[in-house]
Amino acid sequence: MPIIKQYQVQMYLGLFAFFVARFFEVSTYYLVAEGIDLIGELFKGETGEFTVTQITVGIIGCVFARFVVVSYARRAIRRIGIAVSYDLRQSLYRSVLTQGPEFFAKISVGDVMTRAIQDITLIQRFIAFGLIAFVIMIYAPLFGVSAMLMKSASLTLLIVPLLPVIFIYAVKMADEMGRSSREVQQKLSELSEHTQENLSGIRTIQAQVQEENEVARFWETNNEYANAFYEQARINSLMSAWMPFFASVAQLVIVLYGGHQVMTGQISVGDLVFFFACLSMLLQPIRMAGMLVMLVQRAAVASERLFEILESEPEIQDVPTGDTPEVISGGFELRDLSYTYPGAAIAALRDINLTIQPGESIAIVGRIGSGKSTLLKLFTRMLNTPRGKLLVDGHDVNDYPLTQLRGQISQVLQDAFLFGEPIFNNISYDDPERHLELVWDAADSASLRDSIEEFPLQMNTVVGERGVTLSGGQKQRTALARGLIRNAPVLILDDCFSSVDTETEEHILSRLKRLREGKTTILVSHRISTLRHSDRIIVLDEGEIVEMGSHEELLAKDGAYAQLERVQTLGEEEEVLAG
Ligand code: ADP
Ligand code: MG
Repeated sequence: MPIIKQYQVQMYLGLFAFFVARFFEVSTYYLVAEGIDLIGELFKGETGEFTVTQITVGIIGCVFARFVVVSYARRAIRRIGIAVSYDLRQSLYRSVLTQGPEFFAKISVGDVMTRAIQDITLIQRFIAFGLIAFVIMIYAPLFGVSAMLMKSASLTLLIVPLLPVIFIYAVKMADEMGRSSREVQQKLSELSEHTQENLSGIRTIQAQVQEENEVARFWETNNEYANAFYEQARINSLMSAWMPFFASVAQLVIVLYGGHQVMTGQISVGDLVFFFACLSMLLQPIRMAGMLVMLVQRAAVASERLFEILESEPEIQDVPTGDTPEVISGGFELRDLSYTYPGAAIAALRDINLTIQPGESIAIVGRIGSGKSTLLKLFTRMLNTPRGKLLVDGHDVNDYPLTQLRGQISQVLQDAFLFGEPIFNNISYDDPERHLELVWDAADSASLRDSIEEFPLQMNTVVGERGVTLSGGQKQRTALARGLIRNAPVLILDDCFSSVDTETEEHILSRLKRLREGKTTILVSHRISTLRHSDRIIVLDEGEIVEMGSHEELLAKDGAYAQLERVQTLGEEEEVLAG
């Protein structure tokens, strides 16, 4: 109901129109019955209450009026269904985009897709058809029974008790139907989750020659899905076979008892026909009752699933205090900063103490899993940064507006993700209106110009699945250009040269040094050649800082860093010898 609320005027108008439509429907039946009786009277040479013209005009008028009203009403209600699903999709998308890693650990991407498409469609259908079914269920008996009572109370009372029996049966069947359709929904979710995961891992499947095994596993899920559907078909067909059976029983009652009443002159032949028409009007909502229960159940499950997303609070709250500086100058203070991933047994970072001056360039090195990426993510609150542990220009990082924080701290993530769009849009992702020259400049800084000039459409070349496939290094440099183009006060680079060859890297770094003059830069790398130019190098191990200092200082210390240097220079010499 809260979702429909803003459309309630249209809704009530639509529902009232259905009421009017029922009135015209009953009037039509009434006039037809009168027409039949008139024929009998004319046959006997008498004249009736109305003339043929009057009845004809009346029927045409009622039919036409009903046509107009019904088409208005259906359109009005369906439009509400469409509008609501539009709103839901929009809020769902917004909500999903604000969610953090914990959310996606709980709800898979495939599941989100099913909810966004399937569940919203179910709600739309419920509004469009369910509301209509609902009013028909109220209006039809109202008009039908009262019209029948006017003609013959005894015949009406004979038929009416039949209706609840049929109704209860229909609802019971619908309940079963609802259960089976929930099963179908669930299986569809599993199926799409399975497919989604496999398609994103298709290269791995092929490389490991697991196609046949995956097909077998898919068969299992697909089989369950089909079985759920078979069950639904069984209940559905049973239901649609019982309904005509019940209807015939009621018709038989009308023919036998009503026929008797005609013979004894209690009602006319026209009245008998009128009864048949009213009966079909009464059976319609019963037939719909089943559908309605089903629609309600489906929509209930669907909205439960939707609201699970819509109502999940983003883990990373954006509650700026408003007293933070407008522009970040790039000074940081980390005080006993620790971080443990939710559900993890051991801390990823432990008691990190570090002060970074504005304009400083910091390099972080350490083994895989030592916490480098985790540390970088805390700077822009990609994870929930604990309060009071990380200060930006003297203010708690949690006090800044998220948009400012992430806008002024430009980060290049470890996995260089590119959108299936032109290179231009990938580099200038935050501002598609940017001047072409600026985008070329950024490409220059990332040593990407030569590659782009070789592409068929240069900056307009679409990359990814439906375009040119970039090498790992080209991808990383595109992501780097995207990070550089913002010229932000703080730049964070998470291991983004790993697929770039050493020579190109040197090239990029020397340009970066000039470009980042006076601005804070924090980078993670494994290569000493990358790290050595930084003002300060931090060596992380198992979530703790084990060494800190300049390249020369750390070499003199002869610790972990010096050892790493020895291994790497040895490797390089070997490379040279081998080459
Ligand atoms: P690095 O970037 O230095 O390779 P990370 O910061 O990615 O290391 O990871 C540090 C530690 O945190 C590792 O032990 C890793 O397994 C763990 N970790 C990383 N991401 C998650 C996550 N999303 N959930 C739980 N543990 C994680
Ligand atoms: Mg990492």
